[in-house]
Amino acid sequence: GTVLVSGASGFIALHIVSELLKQNYKVIGTVRSHEKKEKLRRQFQHNPNLFLEIVPDISQSDAFESVFKKHGREIRYVLHTSSPFYYDTTEYEKDLLIPALEGTKNMLNSIKRHAADTVERVVVTSSCTALITLAKASDPNVVFTEESWNEATWDNCQIDGVNAYFASKKFAEVAAWDFVKENAGHIKFKLTTVNPSLVFGPQLFDEDVREHLNTSCEIINDLIHTPVDATLADFHSICTDVRDVAKAHMYAFQKENTVGKRLVVTTAKFGNQDILDILNKDFPQLNGVIPLGKPGTGDQVTNSGATTDNSVTRKILGFEFKSLCETVHDTAAQILKKENRL
Ligand code: NDP
Repeated sequence: GTVLVSGASGFIALHIVSELLKQNYKVIGTVRSHEKKEKLRRQFQHNPNLFLEIVPDISQSDAFESVFKKHGREIRYVLHTSSPFYYDTTEYEKDLLIPALEGTKNMLNSIKRHAADTVERVVVTSSCTALITLAKASDPNVVFTEESWNEATWDNCQIDGVNAYFASKKFAEVAAWDFVKENAGHIKFKLTTVNPSLVFGPQLFDEDVREHLNTSCEIINDLIHTPVDATLADFHSICTDVRDVAKAHMYAFQKENTVGKRLVVTTAKFGNQDILDILNKDFPQLNGVIPLGKPGTGDQVTNSGATTDNSVTRKILGFEFKSLCETVHDTAAQILKKENRL
């Protein structure tokens, strides 16, 4: 079968593309520029099963039209991963909300127009941010689950990049489920969403380790480069591993028990202290170079605040997620290797 992956050059998407090629799928990936197309072709060693098309901006209503005109009849599965993930903007609508929402709608409309009776499964990469209401995240009585929805509105989310990004994923996911309801009988495909928490783990290709990494991995990159005497921000969240997220995307279109589900992929709560503890323990070359903080006290932070319960998803997927230690270790090891510090 042929799989269309939007945003193929992204941190998560590269792991998905790699897994698809390993499993002998024909992959059509979209990237934003000619340069990215050439780079990916080289990185995947000109794999004859990988076809790349240029889609500069998913916000444009005809973004995916040419891809479907060219390949529409053979595409069986669509994995829509592209969506802006950064916080550093004040143009919330243009940079975050519109591409997330319209990008998703444009993809689904192109499927309907060109491949309504041939695309069988669609996976939208959503996020835990689609279920977490930021204002409730520090409330210890709150439990977020596969049933939860971020309560942010289009207007009240536009206060900072974080709130706007969180809400952008909610609007995009809601639009996808609404589309399926509104078009029942006119489309063949079944929808599944994958909702990861912050995704850590190695870049698929070592060469993509740069001074600044993608938004989620940058959290670890930043701690590795924090001077020993710096005061730590009390940052905490939930996280998971990119290899598990890629695997969840595979199950999301391959398995029957994932049809119509929101797969909430999250492994553990963590705070900066937990990451520092792992870095200091696993990499002695960082001792005295990065802060120690207060070793072993991370659970003071992680035991407080809301909980995310994804036991439904864990049962559906049926595989063990990589531990926080493993994902932090592997992310850091790749960075240190690139810097000749391993
Ligand atoms: P990346 O930034 O690495 O990937 C995002 C991809 O989307 C890139 O290929 C990017 O292209 C593309 N993209 C963004 N905006 C546009 C646009 N307007 N038009 C066309 N393409 C666009 O991040 P991740 O791999 O982390 O994110 C992938 C998906 O996973 C996103 O949907 C994100 O919301 C979701 N997610 C990520 C989490 C994480 O912690 N990493 C957690 C939960 C969900 P380019 O780089 O060329 O701009």
